[in-house]
Amino acid sequence: AAELPPVSESDPTAKALGYVEDAKKTTNAKYKAGDDCTNCQFYSGGPTGRGPCQLFPGKSVNAKGWCVSHTPKKA
Ligand code: SF4
Repeated sequence: AAELPPVSESDPTAKALGYVEDAKKTTNAKYKAGDDCTNCQFYSGGPTGRGPCQLFPGKSVNAKGWCVSHTPKKA
């Protein structure tokens, strides 16, 4: 599949959602240890690198990223 361009932390949507490239670097109170894009239901990429997120159409997010809309993947 073609690589999607990476979303920037300074993108308006990214800022609104508190998106960070490294989940461990967020200071957001909603962050729970262990959460990142790989275990979010909106992420459809692999365990490393970057992949698509439904909330950032046309862009890629970091597998180890995070935002306030993180929702655990359903088993
Ligand atoms: Fe990552 Fe989920 Fe936020 Fe998308 S919605 S950026 S996959 S934490």
